[in-house]
Amino acid sequence: MRVVYADNAATTRISDEVFDAMMPWHKERYGNASTLYRLGREAHKAIESARQSIAKGLHADPMEIFFTSGGTESDNWALKGTLHHYAACGKTHLIISSIEHHAVLNCAKSLEKDGITVTYLPVLPNGRIHPESVREALRPTTGLVSIMYANNETGVIQPIAEIGAICREAGVLFHTDAVQAAGVLQFDVQQEKIDMLSLSAHKFHGPKGIGVLYCRKKAIPDTYMHGGEQERGHRAGTENTAAIVGLAAAFEQARAEMHEKAPQIAQLRDHVETELLKIDGSHLNGTAPRLPGTLNIAFDGIDGQSLLMELDIRHIAASAGSACDSGSMTPSHVLKAMGVPYTLAHGSLRLSFGRYNTAEDAEIIIREVREAVELLRTHPVCMN
Ligand code: PLP
Repeated sequence: MRVVYADNAATTRISDEVFDAMMPWHKERYGNASTLYRLGREAHKAIESARQSIAKGLHADPMEIFFTSGGTESDNWALKGTLHHYAACGKTHLIISSIEHHAVLNCAKSLEKDGITVTYLPVLPNGRIHPESVREALRPTTGLVSIMYANNETGVIQPIAEIGAICREAGVLFHTDAVQAAGVLQFDVQQEKIDMLSLSAHKFHGPKGIGVLYCRKKAIPDTYMHGGEQERGHRAGTENTAAIVGLAAAFEQARAEMHEKAPQIAQLRDHVETELLKIDGSHLNGTAPRLPGTLNIAFDGIDGQSLLMELDIRHIAASAGSACDSGSMTPSHVLKAMGVPYTLAHGSLRLSFGRYNTAEDAEIIIREVREAVELLRTHPVCMN
C-alpha cells in the first residue's frame, strides 16, 4: 500500500531532476575539486557555478556562500564561530528565541558552558516573536542575535526584516536559521539586513547532508572545521560535488516553481485544516502567518505518539509535537513557549505538505485522522 507522506518539514523526497543532475558527479565526473587535472577542474567549476546560483537566489555575492554538511553545521558555525570570536573582546551575550530548532537551542546551551550569557526571547501565543523584544534584550555586550525564519513545528514565519533592521541599527550581527523557509519563501539578505543565514537542501527536494551558510563579507565566523584550504580556508573538507550540484539544482527548481506551487500547497493544507478543525476538541497551534505547507493541530484527550502510531498503521507518515524522551513524554518546547496547555501539547500532530502531495492525499488524511482520533478517544492506548 502507498504511504501518504505528510512530513515534508522533516525531510523531502529528492526531485527526479535533482537526482539526475547529481548522478554524473558520482559516477563519471568524480574528481576532487582541489586537483589540477581536468576531472578536478570540472568539479571545481561545477561547485563555483552552484555557488553563483545560490548567491543569486539569496541576493548575495558568491564569495559570501559557504557549503556545509547541512542546517545543523551551518547553525553551529554561525553561533559558535561568532561568539568565540567576539567573546575575546567582551561580547559575551547571545540572543535567541525560545522556539529555535535544537540545532540552535543546544548550541546556545553549549555556549553557556563556555561562559556565554544567553537570552531566550518569549513568543506570543500565535507563535510569533515580537521584534521589539529583540530591541529590549540588546545589551552593550551582545555579540549575536539568532532568530529562525520560520518555525519547524508550527510553520509560523517570524518578522525577519524588522529584526534585521533593529540589529543593523544597533550594530549587532544577525543570523537566521532559514532551514524551513528556504525554497518556500523568497529571501533578500540585503533588504532584510541578514548577516548570516543557514539552509539545508533536504528540506526542498535536494539531497541530505548538504547545506549553506551565507555570511556577509564582514561577518564570517571563526573557522571551527580545520584542515585543508577548501571554502577559501573557512571550512575544511573535500567538497561533496554531487551534493553541491544537487543543492543548487533543488534551490533553482524550488525558486522557479515557488509562485505556482506555494498557493497549491497552501490550498491543500487549508482544506485539511478546515476539515480537521471540525473534529470536536481540535485546536490550531500557530495562528500567525505560516509557511504554506505546515499544519500543527491538537486534539483534546489524545496522546500525540498514539495518534502517530495509529496513523502509521494507516500508512500516513506525520510528526507529533512531543518527543518520547527516555520513556517519558516531553512536550514540545515550541508549544510550551506559546503557552499551549501541557495536555494539548501532548495531543498535537504536525502535518507538513510539499510538492508531491495530491488532493487524494488530503482526503485520505482527513478520513484517517478523523477515524484515528475517534478510535483513540473510545479506546485509548495505555502507554507507560
Ligand atoms: N533548523 C531547522 C529549523 C530545521 O527544521 C532543521 C531540520 O529539521 C535543522 C535546522 C537541521 O538541519 P539538518 O537536518 O540539515 O542538519
